[in-house]
Amino acid sequence: MRTETTSFSGRCHCGNLGVTFETRLRPEQLPVRACTCSFCRTHGARYTSDPAGRVHITVRDPGRVNRYRFALKTADFLICRECGVYLGAVLTAGGSSYATININTLDAAQVLTQASASVTYDGETATERRARRMANWTPVVEIKEG
Ligand SMILES: [Zn+2]
Repeated sequence: MRTETTSFSGRCHCGNLGVTFETRLRPEQLPVRACTCSFCRTHGARYTSDPAGRVHITVRDPGRVNRYRFALKTADFLICRECGVYLGAVLTAGGSSYATININTLDAAQVLTQASASVTYDGETATERRARRMANWTPVVEIKEG
């Protein structure tokens, strides 16, 4: 694995939510996933993550963030209440947090041109869902509010 880190930054439309995703993978090596559930399809979300990477999330005004939960309610889907942009999802388990980022919110969205892998996770139990996310999502090192 190369030693340099690439840092991808992104934000919602109004800037209330921000994200920095650090990875040693090259852009073309990053997995790109499109989940087929109705939430992800309606947002046109494309995701990436790196279990060896790091994510920082900034929230300017926590009162203007919707932490939407649905289905098994294992993760918070972060939606800006001000501009409606969907940033990505965060799972907190075992005292740690893990994130998957909606590539469409990254400055480098147009760089990540690899075809999305279509994924479907219907039928998972809550335990299976948490385990998959902990194995595949990016560790969150900081959620900075204010
Ligand atoms: Zn916003």
